[in-house]
Amino acid sequence: MASSTKKDYYEILGVPRNASQEEIKKAYRRLVRKYHPDICKKPECEEKFKEINEAYQVLSDPEKRKLYDMYGHAAFEGAGAQQRVETNIPPIEEILREFFEGTPFDFETIFERATGRRRRTRRRAIRGEDIVVPVEITLEEAFRGTTVPIEVEREVPCEVCEGTGYDTRTERTCPTCGGRGEVVQGNWFIQVRQTCPTCGGEGRIAEECRSCAGRGTVRRKETIKVKIPPGVRDGSKLVVEGKGHAGRNGGIPGNLYILVKVKPHKIFERKGDDLYVDVNITFPEAVLGTEIEVPTIDGEKVKVKIPPGTKEGDLIRIPGKGMPKLKGSGRGDMYVRVHIDVPKYNVFSKILGDGKKAEELLKQLQEVLPKPERVVQRG
Ligand SMILES: [Zn+2]
Ligand SMILES: [Zn+2]
Repeated sequence: MASSTKKDYYEILGVPRNASQEEIKKAYRRLVRKYHPDICKKPECEEKFKEINEAYQVLSDPEKRKLYDMYGHAAFEGAGAQQRVETNIPPIEEILREFFEGTPFDFETIFERATGRRRRTRRRAIRGEDIVVPVEITLEEAFRGTTVPIEVEREVPCEVCEGTGYDTRTERTCPTCGGRGEVVQGNWFIQVRQTCPTCGGEGRIAEECRSCAGRGTVRRKETIKVKIPPGVRDGSKLVVEGKGHAGRNGGIPGNLYILVKVKPHKIFERKGDDLYVDVNITFPEAVLGTEIEVPTIDGEKVKVKIPPGTKEGDLIRIPGKGMPKLKGSGRGDMYVRVHIDVPKYNVFSKILGDGKKAEELLKQLQEVLPKPERVVQRG
């Protein structure tokens, strides 16, 4: 006989044979939250809940319970059955409605713990955040342009859920609202319609993606090669579009910004596209004029004529030997800033070996040189 293999209804609900209606209800409520297939995703739960549901139908109905107590499962089976037992599982909202009838209740608290996160397809698209990475380069690199590998840790779309944040395989009708997107709360005389708190009005829910914990994005280390153009200035911000953090809910990704710092150079000082180089000449060279060799940023050397009568601080312009122009073509200029070396007296005498003779020569020179105007007139 089929009935002999069936489990005892009291056992299924875990209540004693003399349990009160209140105890039976309580036991069932506990089991609903644990085994209802809208809540429990394990395949064995459905079978188990069918048993629970059947047991509850019988034991919660005083008439059916009496029959069961007398005849066991046979009371509801075969040709001699006096009553039928519905074996379909009702949707959880129906069960809950029955339970909470007349009592205001909060679906959210019941479900937040029990079910997965709701599907949030209508969430506002959010643009991904930008990433800013400082990069230090030499002036030579700024001159030629360079490619720098930038290591960034980016938020990228989760491959498992394709950035949605939920596991599409678990998508199903929202058990709270039965897919309607709204719920009715209240007691028998006040009823309030509300957007369903479980699905947010979507009518569908799904479990969170395990791989990204529902974020839709995961962190990943990446090396991005960034081209730095010739002529880049210190403090420039270069943009690599779309290489910032991934957007959320279909939002576009942020940008990657490269903050360029050009290291100070040992020889060259930069002003815009122009370069300045400081040179020292002797006093006789300043008076008579000379020709010196000066290095350029491209690694070459240029010959520079120092005209006779060059003063301290004079600038000699060498066209087209500066930095490449970012906008337009061509290069800036190079300026040679001249300094006249004045040796200290003790150094001077040390070099000559004979301090007396050097002093003698300087005194003679002083006598023949015309006296300069002491106070400089402006304009
Ligand atoms: Zn994911
Ligand atoms: Zn819902």
